Amino acid sequence: MKDLTINTATAFDLPPVFAARHLIDGAWIDGGDTFERVSPSHDVVVSRACLGGAAEVNAAVAAARRAFDAGIWSRIPAKDRAAVLLKVADLIEANVERIAVQETLESGKPIAQARGEVGGAADLWRYAAALARTSHGDSHNSLGEDMLGVVVKEPIGVVSIITPWNFPFWILSQKLPFALAAGCTVVVKPSEMTPSSTVMLGELLIEAGLPAGVCNIVLGLGDPVGSLMTTHEAVDMVTFTGSTAVGKRITQAAAGTLKKVALELGGKNPQVIMPDADLENAADAVTFGIYFNVGQCCNSSSRIIVHEDIAQDFVARVVELSRKVRFGDPLDDSTQVGAIVTAEHNAKIDGYVKDAVAAGARLELGGAPLRVEGLGPQFYQPTVISGVTPDMAIAREEVFGPVLTVLTFRTLEEAIALTNDSDYGLSAGIWSNDIHTCLAFVRGAQAGTVWTNTWMDGFPELAFGGMKQSGQGREIGRYGYEEFLEVKSLVMRVGRDSRTPWVARSED
Ligand code: NAD
Repeated sequence: MKDLTINTATAFDLPPVFAARHLIDGAWIDGGDTFERVSPSHDVVVSRACLGGAAEVNAAVAAARRAFDAGIWSRIPAKDRAAVLLKVADLIEANVERIAVQETLESGKPIAQARGEVGGAADLWRYAAALARTSHGDSHNSLGEDMLGVVVKEPIGVVSIITPWNFPFWILSQKLPFALAAGCTVVVKPSEMTPSSTVMLGELLIEAGLPAGVCNIVLGLGDPVGSLMTTHEAVDMVTFTGSTAVGKRITQAAAGTLKKVALELGGKNPQVIMPDADLENAADAVTFGIYFNVGQCCNSSSRIIVHEDIAQDFVARVVELSRKVRFGDPLDDSTQVGAIVTAEHNAKIDGYVKDAVAAGARLELGGAPLRVEGLGPQFYQPTVISGVTPDMAIAREEVFGPVLTVLTFRTLEEAIALTNDSDYGLSAGIWSNDIHTCLAFVRGAQAGTVWTNTWMDGFPELAFGGMKQSGQGREIGRYGYEEFLEVKSLVMRVGRDSRTPWVARSED
C-alpha cells in the first residue's frame, strides 16, 4: 500500500532459543512434548517449551496444596509476604530488556510497548505488596452483652491462573501479586504462544525468595493443561483472562466442583466522538486505541461512533494519522505497530474486513495483509472502514487486529444505545467538552471502565473488569485483591456463663 510509514527489518542479534520448562515445587523440570514457537515477525524459532499433561498438573496442584496447607506462605506475617513482592518488583525492573525482547519475538508486539508492559508491571507488584498489609475485616460488639462477632478475611487457597498471549507479563501481574499478597498459592499456565516471560518471572520469584511450591508453572495447551487446572478438586479458584468462548467453557467445567471463577474476557469497545470534542486529541486517541499492541488488545477501541456532522472530517483525520503510524519491524525502537500473532489470526482479520466490504461497508484505508521487507509474512495493513452498520459482524465481534470500524449517530441517546448494543461491556469512552454530555454518557454506558477525553489510562488503585459477556469479578485495586480472599465470621461468647440456651433448657 502506498504512503504508509513502514520500518523494514533492522540488523539485530537474536537471543538464543529460550528453553521454557515447568516450575513445580521449586524445581525446573521437563515433561511432555515440545512446542516450538516461531516468531510471527522474524519467522525463526524463538522458544522451545514443554507441553505438560495430567502428570505435571497433578504434581503442580499437589505442591501448591501442600504449601498452602502447611501455612509456609499463607500464615506468615503479611510484612514478610510484602517484602518478597517488593523484591520481585526490583528484579523485574532489572530484567526489563531481556524479558521484553523475548516477548516481542514471541508475540510480534513492538519492543517499546513490550518494555512498557514489563517495566510498568513492577508497579502492580509494589501496589499488591502494600495491599498485603491492609487485610482487615470488621468487628461487631452490638450482638448482645456476652457476644463478640468478628469478620476476618482469609486467603481463598490454591488458585489456577490461566493467561492469554497478548499481554502475557502484564496480565499475569494483574493476578499473581494480588493472589500472593492475599496468601494464596498458585498454579500458572501461560499461552503456548508466549510461554517465556512467565518462565522468566518464575526465575525472578525464586531469586526473590518465594518458598518452593507457592508458585508453580505448568506449560501446555488449553486442553489438557488449562482444562485440568479448571476441574481439579484441590483447586479453590480459577482466574482466567482470554476469549469469551473459552471463558464460558471454564465456567461450565468449574461448576463440577463449584470453585470460584473470575473472568476477564473480550470487548468491542466504542469511543463516542461528539461534535464539540477536541477532534485533534480524539483522532490521536482513536489511532492509539486501535493500533496499540497491533489491535490485539481487549481494550482496543475497535468501534468509533462519531456524530454524523463531523464524521467525514474525523475519518479523514484518522486516515491521515494512520498513514503516519510506524508499522513494521517490532524490534525497531520507533515501531508502533508490529506483527499479528499467527498466520491463522491474520487470515481471520482479513476475513472480517472482506465480509464487511462485501456487505456494503467502505474501505477508507488498508484492508489486506502487509509485506514488510526482510521480515515474516504476518503483518496487516492499518485499516479504516466506514459506513459500518450495527448488524455487521465487524461491528459486533472482536476482530483483534489493526482494523477500525466507524458508525455514525445523530443524538447522544442514540450514541449511548449504540454503545450498549453489544454482548460485551469491557470499556467505553466519550470525547466532548460538555460536562453534562460526559456525565450522561458515563452514567448510561454499560462498561466496566468508562473514559472521558482519554483512552486506556489505568492505575493499580482502580479496578479492571467487564460487564455482560466481558467477564465477571474485578482485577487490581482493592477489588482485585479481595477476589482472592474468603470471608469468615467468628462468633464468640465472651461472658463468664458460656452455657448455650439448649443445655440450659435440657437441665430445667
Ligand atoms: P484464549 O481464550 O484462546 O486462550 C487464553 C488461555 O486459555 C490460553 O492460555 C489457552 O491455552 C487457555 N485455554 C484454551 N482453552 C482452554 C480450556 N478449555 N480450558 C482452560 N484453558 C484454556 O484467548 P487468547 O487467544 O489467548 O487471547 C485473546 C483473547 O483474550 C481475546 O478475546 C481478548 O479480548 C481476551 N483478553 C481479555 C482481557 C481482559 O482483561 N478482559 C485481556 C487480554 C485479552
